[in-house]
Amino acid sequence: MELEQMYASMGISSKVFRFGQAVEESLKERFSAIDRTAEANQLKVLSAFRKEKLSESHLSGTTGYGYNDTGRETLEKVYADIFHTEDALVRPQITCGTHALYTALAGNLRPGDELLSPVGAPYDTLQEVIGIRPSNGSLAEYGITYRQVDLLPDESFDYAGIRKAINAKTKLVTIQRSKGYSSRHTLSVGQIGELIRFIKGVKPDVICMVDNCYGEFVELNEPSDAGADMVVGSLIKNPGGGLAPIGGYIAGRADCVENAAFRLASPGLGREVGATLNVNRSFFQGLFFAPTVTAGALKGAIFAASVYEKLGFEVHPKAAEKRHDIIQAITFHKPEGLVAFCEGIQAASPVDSYVRPEPWPMPGYDSDVIMAAGTFVSGASIELSADGPLREPYTAYFQGGLTYDHAKFGILLALQKLADQGLAPII
Ligand SMILES: *Cc1c(COP(=O)(O)O)cnc(C)c1O
Repeated sequence: MELEQMYASMGISSKVFRFGQAVEESLKERFSAIDRTAEANQLKVLSAFRKEKLSESHLSGTTGYGYNDTGRETLEKVYADIFHTEDALVRPQITCGTHALYTALAGNLRPGDELLSPVGAPYDTLQEVIGIRPSNGSLAEYGITYRQVDLLPDESFDYAGIRKAINAKTKLVTIQRSKGYSSRHTLSVGQIGELIRFIKGVKPDVICMVDNCYGEFVELNEPSDAGADMVVGSLIKNPGGGLAPIGGYIAGRADCVENAAFRLASPGLGREVGATLNVNRSFFQGLFFAPTVTAGALKGAIFAASVYEKLGFEVHPKAAEKRHDIIQAITFHKPEGLVAFCEGIQAASPVDSYVRPEPWPMPGYDSDVIMAAGTFVSGASIELSADGPLREPYTAYFQGGLTYDHAKFGILLALQKLADQGLAPII
């Protein structure tokens, strides 16, 4: 069989290949449901391009101050259409997801205001933004206080606790959709909608912001369809479609987006400045690809969960669980397992495939961390990547893949590395 031989020539034994084929065969129905979501989301994106009359002139950018950048203005209208919001800010000057979230928070909060997270601790980097871990320039240093209500032991919302936490100072509520590196489940858009309805019932004028990282285009709706006042994310994750080389977005209520724009640039200038240099084309084209790229990454995550669950490893979410983001956690309980997995992902990469990832002491972590990422855009986690801290329970966080075929090869090569070392029960 030709395909089997090609895999063999790339180091995949016929046992591993056939195991993978059998797993894939069992996923046909789930994959076709994902394809239907991608199809609907592709139409949503195309419809916005058509409505805003995207033209060739929008694909080139501006320099200097960036006044009258019609490409940038059209892109922002397209984002607002897709997220069904009044407005959007989509900029290469937003350096990453953390910066987008910081800009949204700092632009909309004033000294004396309080920020609430009703879904437990936010993503690591946000803890320094807020000042949960003391940090130079944090919101705490500007007199913005913070409250947190954890999820209940069964991972449901602590409505009584949330009601108690909301007070006269509560100005903004931040809701993280994806589990990130925590062990809770990822929230569905439906669950986020329920939570926002409850919060608005207690205090109607509170701003509800959703950290939408890794969640875009996974479902048919976005949190902004479920009542969120702002949705915020990174362009080197789902919505950049693998082509955006940098950037972030904030879509939402016009006044909230405006506040963020003044924070990003400067009071008085706001959204009027910000040259796009040469990124407009990749922002548009990446967005065009984003629904199918996200679908490929989702299929890869489900394939990985199914492969490793069948072999007896703990996976989170479980293979059969409904998906609300593209992250897959696989637990090895052995450092060699985590390292072998990451080596396989790295070796399968289009860039730096010959490099061997080594655990290193990353700032902000209390143990060494191993990372595998052979990406076209540095650090882009919509591309196939895996990482994990070298400590119990030795969990690899795996995500991305610009094509499902690449994700599949990475997962099989990782399995081969584990099998070769006797770390996976496949002979
Ligand atoms: C990636 C991510 C962030 C931060 O984005 P960076 O681009 O790494 O700064 C914030 N929240 C969640 C849930 C994320 O997945």
